[in-house]
Amino acid sequence: MNLPYAESYKIKVVENLHRSSREEREQWIRQAKYNLFNLKSEQVFIDLLTDSGTGAMSDRQWSEMMTGDESYAGATSYYKMKSAIKNIFGFPYFLPTHQGRAAENVLFSVMVNNGDVVPGNAHFDTTKGHIEYRKASAVDCTIDEAYDTQIEHPFKGNLDLHKLEETLKAYPARRIPFIVVTLTCNSSGGQPVSMENLRGVHALARKYGVRVLFDSARFAENAYFIKIREEGYQDVSIRDIVAEMYQHADLMTMSSKKDAIVNMGGFIGFRDEDLFRQASVYNIMFEGFITYGGMSGRDMNALAQGLYEGTRFEYLDTRVRQVGYLGQRLEELGVPVQKPFGGHAIFVDANQFLPNLPREQFRAQTLAVELYLEAGVRAVEIGTLLADRDPETRENRYPELELLRLTIPRRVYTNNHMNLVAVALKNVYDRRDQITRGLKIVREAPIMRHFTVELERH
Ligand SMILES: *Cc1c(COP(=O)(O)O)cnc(C)c1O
Repeated sequence: MNLPYAESYKIKVVENLHRSSREEREQWIRQAKYNLFNLKSEQVFIDLLTDSGTGAMSDRQWSEMMTGDESYAGATSYYKMKSAIKNIFGFPYFLPTHQGRAAENVLFSVMVNNGDVVPGNAHFDTTKGHIEYRKASAVDCTIDEAYDTQIEHPFKGNLDLHKLEETLKAYPARRIPFIVVTLTCNSSGGQPVSMENLRGVHALARKYGVRVLFDSARFAENAYFIKIREEGYQDVSIRDIVAEMYQHADLMTMSSKKDAIVNMGGFIGFRDEDLFRQASVYNIMFEGFITYGGMSGRDMNALAQGLYEGTRFEYLDTRVRQVGYLGQRLEELGVPVQKPFGGHAIFVDANQFLPNLPREQFRAQTLAVELYLEAGVRAVEIGTLLADRDPETRENRYPELELLRLTIPRRVYTNNHMNLVAVALKNVYDRRDQITRGLKIVREAPIMRHFTVELERH
């Protein structure tokens, strides 16, 4: 018999979970105004809200915490982080920030101006928020295949090079501060970008005199998919793939809460010393001195260690296989899920799940509420609420995909948890015809409304 696959780590510390009754959950979700961000964590049994900052650090990372250097300036922890970034990505300059959006805030303060255009692949919500806040616009150049959840394309995060070139042609280079490539593409379903596409984007950027920024939260999962799916990379190590990927970038922003497996942290990587100097001013203003930027020394230590661990093939293999396991279980049970499975999450197609519910009643959010009521599982809407209103017309924007994201924290849950989630969704699927009332908005913020929106039953 072939030996079955087993995880590449074992558990040393555990945290107890809280079960609840359906009656309790009915009350809690009403009190939370049908917004799962408003639930207390102890009201949740299995928390798949996000993989951001929710991972389990390793024994090595915890021991790095003990040796953190808390000096205000020039801490050894800063140099550890600097060396990890140079080794892994090849960037000679970097600024630490407290998380990914802080990196965007600092960098975009230098680079993005009123009227600018930023092409990219389905910009992440905070990235788009920071662009639109500066009265610039994000142009989505993702390939069309990304918007059909049933097409099996290995690299659904890819940019359509034709769309990209049309955008680059349409504006003068000084109006395009950079092209954003999101690795993996979170908003289109944790879908990877191929090396070939990165090469193509970089070539176009050079042709039109524009910079390339990698939004790098899940760069290592992206490298894993290149190794598994792209011809010619099977025998190349993850670290070598990452090094090659970043030859096609001028800049990076990183939310270290994802692939660096820490609970908080981020950074910006630069090749250009002048940009680094300009951004340093904003870093000092918004984040802290340039050798800590909103992070403790111990956190920088754990982050550096996490970058090395997060780029180990054995770890990534366990990680991505677990996500695939949940996807496969759901598929076997007949629940409509996005294919192929992404790196950090499984996306349930709420348009196929609840086709009769009007879109104005927020299909994916309604599904999130039903899944919570069913089993205390917290997932997150990636759909109309997240898409915000059009900044000009203030109308709801209806994205092509209306998804429920089941996001898997790193090294946290077992496959038994995945089984429970799959069966819970199957139960909701079996009674989908009875879900005839969606949700309506009672109160919302002008931007990034999904975090704080208040809803009631329609
Ligand atoms: C999480 C994330 C961000 C923002 O990072 P935070 O650490 O949450 O501020 C930006 N881009 C992508 C692709 C992300 O996944």
